[in-house]
Amino acid sequence: MQYISTRGGTLGQYSDVLLEGLAPNGGLAVPETLPRLSADGLERLRVLTYPQLATEIIGLFATDIPRTDLARLTEGAYGDGKFAAEEIVPLTAVDGMTIVGLSEGPTLAFKDMAMQFLGEALEYVLEKNDRVLNVVGATSGDTGSAAEHALRGLDRVSVFMLSPQGRMSAFQRAQMYSLQDANVHNIAVEGVFDDCQNLVKRLNTDLDFKRAHSLGAVNSINFGRISAQIVYYVWAWLRMTDAVAEPERASFRVSFAVPSGNFGNILSGHYARAMGAPIHELVLATNENNVLDEFFRTGHYRPRGAADTLATSSPSMDVSRASNLERFVFDLLGRDPERTAAAWHELEERDEIDLSAELGRFRSEFGIVSGTSTHADRLATIRDVHDRSGVTIDPHTADGVKVAREHAEAGIPMLVLETAKPAKFADLIEEALGESPEPDAATRALLDAPQRVIAMPDDEQQLRDYISANALG
Ligand SMILES: *Cc1c(COP(=O)(O)O)cnc(C)c1O
Repeated sequence: MQYISTRGGTLGQYSDVLLEGLAPNGGLAVPETLPRLSADGLERLRVLTYPQLATEIIGLFATDIPRTDLARLTEGAYGDGKFAAEEIVPLTAVDGMTIVGLSEGPTLAFKDMAMQFLGEALEYVLEKNDRVLNVVGATSGDTGSAAEHALRGLDRVSVFMLSPQGRMSAFQRAQMYSLQDANVHNIAVEGVFDDCQNLVKRLNTDLDFKRAHSLGAVNSINFGRISAQIVYYVWAWLRMTDAVAEPERASFRVSFAVPSGNFGNILSGHYARAMGAPIHELVLATNENNVLDEFFRTGHYRPRGAADTLATSSPSMDVSRASNLERFVFDLLGRDPERTAAAWHELEERDEIDLSAELGRFRSEFGIVSGTSTHADRLATIRDVHDRSGVTIDPHTADGVKVAREHAEAGIPMLVLETAKPAKFADLIEEALGESPEPDAATRALLDAPQRVIAMPDDEQQLRDYISANALG
């Protein structure tokens, strides 16, 4: 399968776009044509374990990786004890809905689902090409720890992760800084998240430095991550229909509610639906940073700057420029690279894209609806779900449940993607329920573990020196 840029031109195969998700012309890598899943094809997947299903689904995109090799990679990612639940992604009925458990991985958040696979796949592709990769990233919490836990201990990859000093929770700090692997470098920058991100951006615009030190990223536009996320949409549909009688199965539709930030998770749902998975609607939930809700309600995409991005109590969704949206707009505009490039040109000129002429198709053709959840909604939803079912959900999942309730339809199961475990956000849970969850033995051990992190001022030269001295290659 060939990959093309959303703004025109071909980019190579899956292994090529795994290392470089952004096309030279600024577009994003997408498959030239989307593979199709027929009703018979879906039925044949029913008996598979999660890693086996991942091999089949990712294999539709990674046609340049032999199946036996791919099976080894998915087994490495999802086999043997890496995820707390035996079924990897457990489904739990909660208060008339179904929670899809995507947070059973090592960092208790859904990013592990894709990142664990990406770590395996990167090492494989780098080995084949005899290359190394030094991943440089900035994190305010979840992404950085998921990346570090996926890349730790690899031979051909090292990680330099910048985090804002004193601005993460004790749990998030422990999850990252307790890693003792030599290829993981935690750098606590004196500044806020935006300062960290600016340092990374400045290094990446210096192409000589970037090339000399094989710098790369594993951010949410990485197509390897998008492909690995399609797997759990298919898995969840299969598990929801296991008990449905054979003749009705193929037409049995479910809806998914997706707590969203960079539009990565829900984009994978959009692809699953376009491939033929029987998905009725995709319910996009945002927090107070509701650029995407505004887009799906009005057709106007108006990203906001850092100064207009609120720090909310569902912090992993504090995103005001959704890096994956261009892939959806490409499909919306009939997969026309010229129209897509023109739209992003308009964005540069006017800080806005007006797609209101297409608004009617958002729901009718693509099944996407949306809504916003606030701090008060989050607290009320966590409390309400706890009172009714005894289950404690995290603030991001609560945003999903809140918006899912607004779009529930009789006869169509609503599946809410659980994007993190409540243990990661003990303060908010305490605010909602009056008591925080008692930390379990593993959490206490994590919080007490020795930490490995270096402090650094917000200084580009010091960062360059540190990377030059410690990078692989
Ligand atoms: C990253 C993240 C999200 C948002 O996912 P996107 O793919 O960026 O839309 C939601 N919840 C949690 C807990 C996350 O870590």
